[in-house]
Amino acid sequence: MSGNITFTMIKPCAVSDGHIGQILAQINKAGFRIVAMKLTKLRKGEAEAFYSIHRERPFYNELVEFMSSSPIVAAVLEKENAVVEYRKLIGSTDPAKADEGTIRKLYAQSIQNNAVHGSDSDDNAEIESGFFFSMGERFNKKGAVGLQ
Ligand code: ATP
Ligand code: MG
Repeated sequence: MSGNITFTMIKPCAVSDGHIGQILAQINKAGFRIVAMKLTKLRKGEAEAFYSIHRERPFYNELVEFMSSSPIVAAVLEKENAVVEYRKLIGSTDPAKADEGTIRKLYAQSIQNNAVHGSDSDDNAEIESGFFFSMGERFNKKGAVGLQ
């Protein structure tokens, strides 16, 4: 069974470019509910840990520098089949290959500076959400603290 949450970051490039509002509007319009959200900045060690799965890849060091270079928005999003639905909304990693209307097609600068992150599995959605938010920082529809 697929889960109903995913984790996203609006990456430094899209925050610096002033696209937070447009990206959040697109997320809401696509039917995602914001469960948790914060504007924050990754320390280098946090960016290294978050992307540690890519540490052998040639772009790892540059990716870590980029992700820790200026503020990001981190958020937990809820929708049925959230991981798959959100990856459809953001489009391909490389904006040149992303479908028209996707967040990356609209707002990415390059394959590295590609506007947003989206979890790639239900397990990673939970791990990545836990990286940024305690259960007490996640809110259900009634505004009560915590997820069931
Ligand atoms: P994300 O995990 O950020 O949602 P993704 O799942 O589409 O992106 P991954 O393969 O997990 O893509 O890569 C993680 C991130 O590393 C990409 O979003 C991008 O910022 C960067 N990246 C991926 N491939 C390259 C590349 N060939 N050159 C430079 N940076 C890259
Ligand atoms: Mg990924």
